[in-house]
Amino acid sequence: METVKHLVVGAGVTGLAFADWLDTDDLLIFEAEREIGGYCRTVARDGFVWDYSGHFFHFRHPEIERYLVERMEGQEVRKIVKEARIWHEGALVDFPFQKNIHQLPQEQFIECLYDLFFKDEGASGAPPANFEEMLYRKFGRGIAERFLIPYNRKLYATDLRTLDVDAMGRFFPYADTADIVRNFRRAENQSYNATFTYPAGGAIQYVNALAKGIDPSRIALSEPVVAIDLARKVATTPRREVAFEHLTSAMPFPKLLAMTGVPHEPADFSYNKVLVFNLGFDRKGPEGVHWMYFASPEQVFYRLGFYDNIFGTDRMSMYVEIGYPKDARVDDEVIAEMLERTLADLEATGITSGHRLVASHHVLLDPAYVHITRRSAAEVARLQQVLAHRGVHSLGRYGAWTYCSIEDNIVEARAHADSFNALTA
Ligand SMILES: Cc1cc2nc3c(=O)[nH]c(=O)nc-3n(C[C@H](O)[C@H](O)[C@H](O)COP(=O)(O)OP(=O)(O)OC[C@H]3O[C@@H](n4cnc5c(N)ncnc54)[C@H](O)[C@@H]3O)c2cc1C
Repeated sequence: METVKHLVVGAGVTGLAFADWLDTDDLLIFEAEREIGGYCRTVARDGFVWDYSGHFFHFRHPEIERYLVERMEGQEVRKIVKEARIWHEGALVDFPFQKNIHQLPQEQFIECLYDLFFKDEGASGAPPANFEEMLYRKFGRGIAERFLIPYNRKLYATDLRTLDVDAMGRFFPYADTADIVRNFRRAENQSYNATFTYPAGGAIQYVNALAKGIDPSRIALSEPVVAIDLARKVATTPRREVAFEHLTSAMPFPKLLAMTGVPHEPADFSYNKVLVFNLGFDRKGPEGVHWMYFASPEQVFYRLGFYDNIFGTDRMSMYVEIGYPKDARVDDEVIAEMLERTLADLEATGITSGHRLVASHHVLLDPAYVHITRRSAAEVARLQQVLAHRGVHSLGRYGAWTYCSIEDNIVEARAHADSFNALTA
């Protein structure tokens, strides 16, 4: 039987960043798909360049960004000041909603401001019990019910009372009352991604930069791991068995638990699915905006974005995202219906106006956003430990069952590699 020191499951950002940073070549990566990249894959079709969904990058560690860009010779990387809007009752409001209530019709502005000022912050002093309660307590009923709750419910496709207060971590644009009022005079819609970068060749360019440090013969494509025997430390694919010393997995955590037979409660790991349409039209659409949010049930999508306004090209190139509960049926019939609904909604909102669709692509991200609950966070931490004692490490957005960026994945994967590098140094 083949034996390897490090077996890696998944050639997405996490698996590749780990293998690239590891000081040894005694490794093998199994990837279920025909190509590397995971959710950071890019599709080029009929002159349009799309990602699996809008993937834009905001690095907090300049050395990581430099490391990647230096390996992307000849690749133009644009740096863009983000323009994000909310579609609200036929008008556009700047994002984030909570800091731009002064842009609402006067009656709604007064309601949101009044509710913000007199919000019930919880008399007992106990922290909010869940995500929805946090929204009411921090922003008052007006802001919560006019945007934050319907938008996040549409995105997460779940009851927000089931989510942990911190379900979005640093990705939630917090603002206190003073920030909100200050913004009425001086717009300062800062968020974690006030500027972002994007390579001309799409998100896959960052993935390719990571893969440059790995011997291609160490990556086995179209070879899913189908079983893991913890006692023998052997992984099985449809083609072979491989014995490992350490296994690092980026596959979704519940899938790893099922494969290793570690006792757990599947209901603890809930998530949504996101259907993404990438659409190319014959001419330009709205300008000066990179993405838009839609909280209303009148539109089927919760968010869409415009690659043409990043690249400065003359045909509208768009991604559209639609959220589903994890058990929803999203087969070819539903996808065809949703494309029709999407095109109708684009026309009704005036985003298209007789535009001709000239190219399209779709992908179902399953899972897309994990539902972080108190229970899921505690169980992930506990079960990761159980697996680590058997030499199996679960990392990445889905391996650690969390909400994070690709930079977070790189930071985590490198720290994991360093823990092995230190032993051999
Ligand atoms: C809608 C959406 C928008 C996003 N936008 C951004 C953004 O703008 N900026 C940003 O920084 N991040 C963004 N992200 C997050 C980003 O996509 C992830 O953080 C990143 O792609 C996760 O990489 P990963 O390697 O951990 O997981 P994945 O990309 O899921 O890679 C895991 C890999 O494992 C493989 N695999 C699974 N099971 C097996 C198996 N049994 N055997 C072998 N291989 C297997 C899969 O095929 C896949 O290639 C977004 C995510 C979503 C869902």
